[in-house]
Amino acid sequence: MHTFDFIRPADAAAAVAAAAQAKTAQQGADVRFVAGGTTLVDLMKLNVETPARLIDINRLPLDKVEATPDGGLKIGATVRNSDLAHHPTVQRDYAVLSQALLAGASAQLRNMATTAGNLLQRTRCMYFRDTAMPCNKREPGTGCPAITGSNRTLAVLGTSEHCIATNPSDMCVAMAALEATIHVQGPKGSRAIPIGDFYLLPGSTPNRETVLEPGDLVTHVTLPALRSGSKQVYLKLRDRASYEFALASAAVVITIAGGNVTHARIALGGVGTKPWRSPEAEAALTGKPANAANFRKAAEAAMRDAKPQSENKFKIELARRCLAHALQLATTS
Ligand SMILES: Cc1cc2nc3c(=O)[nH]c(=O)nc-3n(C[C@H](O)[C@H](O)[C@H](O)COP(=O)(O)OP(=O)(O)OC[C@H]3O[C@@H](n4cnc5c(N)ncnc54)[C@H](O)[C@@H]3O)c2cc1C
Ligand code: SF4
Repeated sequence: MHTFDFIRPADAAAAVAAAAQAKTAQQGADVRFVAGGTTLVDLMKLNVETPARLIDINRLPLDKVEATPDGGLKIGATVRNSDLAHHPTVQRDYAVLSQALLAGASAQLRNMATTAGNLLQRTRCMYFRDTAMPCNKREPGTGCPAITGSNRTLAVLGTSEHCIATNPSDMCVAMAALEATIHVQGPKGSRAIPIGDFYLLPGSTPNRETVLEPGDLVTHVTLPALRSGSKQVYLKLRDRASYEFALASAAVVITIAGGNVTHARIALGGVGTKPWRSPEAEAALTGKPANAANFRKAAEAAMRDAKPQSENKFKIELARRCLAHALQLATTS
């Protein structure tokens, strides 16, 4: 039976000092933070994660949602997904984030799941979760059975010959479109990481998913102030209406003046190895009339570099239609 220590540090500095004793970076490390536990404990039960020490961060004062002086929002690392989704400022000003959170998991899971835990949830690739199978992400160098095996739900953007796993988060797709910044306290001090730089492509090291180093504690996430009049939509397509991960999803934050798109931020979920911001779709739309033909062109631009696997070619057209429809919904709402 797997045994581990469990500690409850008094403050963030003590949590960081304890976690800094880990031999490797956060994911797969022997010393781990635990928040809601809905990813970590799940994977410990499967023996996929086997930490020697757990650091419970639930008592740290990281559970507030606050306005920032520049008109943005600061979201503490342990704010529960349900509290964030229903926060009045999020519902009013960052509707795409509220919609994405409410599209994820179940009400019970959202009551436990935290902001930082959601950022750091692991892939649902079935081989990753099965210790009887090889998997480069779980055990580097053992191979990727998904490439020749079951890959219907896996990624078509950002893959490598070593891993094609999808990032499963809904929240992070909205945060990518909102240009969130992730704030980290580590053994060498604090730093702010734009979400676009936070996740790593799998390349030849799919076991390394983010730029976090041993001891790095995510303390909070900030969202910038939004342009007035921006329209927002999160649209998630999946095999069943609830309690299911995205096959394709789209987060759209768009501003229109005089019938033309003046500003667009677009990200896709369910199709990429990380939450997938699409500068190609944004460029295809900006300055153009907001109409169905241009929405389709933007969707085609977003999926131009998609590489299908044996079972998931359908995702490419599904993602195009998802984005085009999300743009239609955003601009007619
Ligand atoms: C059945 C099921 C269905 C789900 N469906 C969806 C879905 O449809 N969409 C979706 O987006 N998600 C879904 N999820 C995933 C769920 O959103 C995540 O499990 C949850 O957000 C993780 O948050 P947590 O606080 O429980 O994380 P934990 O399990 O506590 O931690 C997750 C990881 O984050 C690390 N960590 C936690 N906090 C910090 C911190 N402050 N600093 C550094 N590292 C930290 C932990 O060490 C661990 O590696 C589902 C989960 C389940 C079990
Ligand atoms: S796709 Fe990635 S997570 Fe899945 S088996 Fe291959 S290496 Fe492992």
